[in-house]
Amino acid sequence: MAKEVKTTCPYCGVGCGVIASVADDGAVSVRGDPDHPANFGRLCSKGSALAETIDLDGRLLEPEVNGKKVGWDRALDLVARRFSETIAGHGPDSVAFYLSGQLLTEDYYVANKLMKGFIGSANIDTNSRLCMASSVAGHRRAFGSDTVPGTYEDLELADVVILVGSNLVWCHPVLAQRLAAAKEARPEMKIVLVDPRRTMTADLADLHLAIRPDSDAALFNGLLGILNHPDCLEEHPNSPVGNSPHLDRDFIENHTCGFEEALAAAGCPDLDEIAHATGLNVRELSDFYSLFLKNEKTVTVYSQGVNQSEIGTDKVNSIINCHLATGRIGKPGMGPFSVTGQPNAMGGREVGGLANMLAAHMAIENPEHLEIVQGFWNSPTISSTPGLKAVDLFKAVKSGKIKALWIMATNPVDSMPEADDVKAAIVACPFVVVSDVLEKTDTLELAHVKLPAAAWGEKDGTVTNSERRISRQRPFLPLPGSAHPDWWIVTEVARRMGFASAFDYDGPAEIFAEHSRLSAYRNNGDRDFDIGAYAEIDRQAYDGLQPFQWPQRAGEVSETKRFFADGAFYTADGRARFVPVSGKVPDRHDPDYPFTLNTGRVRDHWHTMTRTGKAARLSSHMAEPFAELHPDDASVLGIAPAELVRLISSRGEVIVRALVTDRQQPGSIFVPMHWTDQFASKGRIDALVKARTDPYSGQPASKNARVRAERFAAS
Ligand code: SF4
Repeated sequence: MAKEVKTTCPYCGVGCGVIASVADDGAVSVRGDPDHPANFGRLCSKGSALAETIDLDGRLLEPEVNGKKVGWDRALDLVARRFSETIAGHGPDSVAFYLSGQLLTEDYYVANKLMKGFIGSANIDTNSRLCMASSVAGHRRAFGSDTVPGTYEDLELADVVILVGSNLVWCHPVLAQRLAAAKEARPEMKIVLVDPRRTMTADLADLHLAIRPDSDAALFNGLLGILNHPDCLEEHPNSPVGNSPHLDRDFIENHTCGFEEALAAAGCPDLDEIAHATGLNVRELSDFYSLFLKNEKTVTVYSQGVNQSEIGTDKVNSIINCHLATGRIGKPGMGPFSVTGQPNAMGGREVGGLANMLAAHMAIENPEHLEIVQGFWNSPTISSTPGLKAVDLFKAVKSGKIKALWIMATNPVDSMPEADDVKAAIVACPFVVVSDVLEKTDTLELAHVKLPAAAWGEKDGTVTNSERRISRQRPFLPLPGSAHPDWWIVTEVARRMGFASAFDYDGPAEIFAEHSRLSAYRNNGDRDFDIGAYAEIDRQAYDGLQPFQWPQRAGEVSETKRFFADGAFYTADGRARFVPVSGKVPDRHDPDYPFTLNTGRVRDHWHTMTRTGKAARLSSHMAEPFAELHPDDASVLGIAPAELVRLISSRGEVIVRALVTDRQQPGSIFVPMHWTDQFASKGRIDALVKARTDPYSGQPASKNARVRAERFAAS
């Protein structure tokens, strides 16, 4: 009789429910959970291949110190002693943790508690910084909190869905399937894709706006201006100037501030100028703006093409400004909607896994919040200043400021921009700990101490998806070898550092309950992030926990699908903020590096392929890395399809095969980010990317590095 366990997919931020079946002979199969509200039984190619990725080949099964297998006590004692000695000798900011959106919320919570509340530093950041930090910063600027206003259902209810910088069909496939099904049921629904590339998502769209890279804010500033001056569009020649029927004046006046300033920054809506800035023609702009003006039920979905930019936060706010101006927020089928890349990027945000946040969505710069968290944790110290964000964190490792580093569940030697510098920094760091499930990654090879962690299928905890839905990841396999869950590893180190009573948990249910109590304690009756309904949850109830959207306060059973329709925001005065945004497209022209390099995902692989690389059928979709370039550029460079091309930036070079296609704009080259030296590529893609960051979010600009390209002839 097969054992069946309901759990959650560990890949993207859609957060699909999975039923894992374990047969009597131990064989595992997976299928979509028909009852899970994120996917209703659907799975994409990656999710449906999960059972092919869980064998023990290549697993790290015993702790190692300097390449020698040791027992847990020896490894944990060493980690605790070296971190304690470093802190005693050089202060709390001489150590750092670098986490991952693969960690469960309970893992994130205890790591954050140890670093911020007991070590007394905020040098704890996460690879989620590379994924959605600009959306977090944009939400906080506009709403006063990092709150996603809507829900997946809004994409199905909308009359117009605008996808900005999002290859939803490949990167959030099940959400794209839901959208496609909604469009099939209501063919009058319109889908607009705003993306320099003609990705597979363009095939789903009625209108594809192939904008110049990084001109998103110019496009949405133009929309804000048009909403105020619809007379600028041919279809609306007689619309009254200055009293536009397309603005929600009541919402603007009673629930927001800064509208006039944002409008002034957006400038006069001159279609020719917007066309010049965005590279679109006036007809395309008119079509897009008319769709927005004519259809109240509009959702704007945005992802890495918006976030991964030096102006990512401004781009986010240029989108939110348009929704605030029309009052299209938090209502069925309306709102701005950020989709996260990683399975638990959102859970990390909830427990303060970013260097500039505290647990339960509190702000590290807020003395009242610091007092609440310190009092709740009964901690001896608490960091009162933001820590180093990912790029700066590794720079501090390189400069020697950080002398002890613990990396959990991620592979920054391959995934960080300026990856060669990151590798050199880790090599030079006096003490490096890596907890991971594998025995070999490019990062693990550099660790002094390797700690074997539990993998998907063995882990036990919760994750939160892009629509604020908390779901359980449940174990269905025994822990192999000496592997342990990440929360256990962190708490064992904390105990050995002298903080035993604060980290005395008997399992993830107890951690989740503490996290729930803190969220309720923090909110004290208001409506922000609150899962106080689970403050007293016991092991049995935790095991049976059904997916729910936060907040869910004590005494309540209903979940909160949407925020802000009532105009109540989390700023001090309760009003949302319009953020004045420049629509100027950064000029990165560099004659030595004439191409814009855009990095991103392919359909069937995930990050540095440490999991998807195990499933042969996933590699049959795209067997090797490639440089996607326009036929005109290929012709000028003398590169034929499938020939090798060398890409060179100021930071490094890679050699990959040319994919010549007019889906790519002239002047831009797309390269998938997944392949590393371990997987048949010559060079690591992120070694090419210069570590330029957004000033508000600290998110690196992974979509617009500068490179030159040349034909590579093997000698
Ligand atoms: Fe997993 Fe995302 Fe695919 Fe769902 S859409 S099965 S969460 S990878």
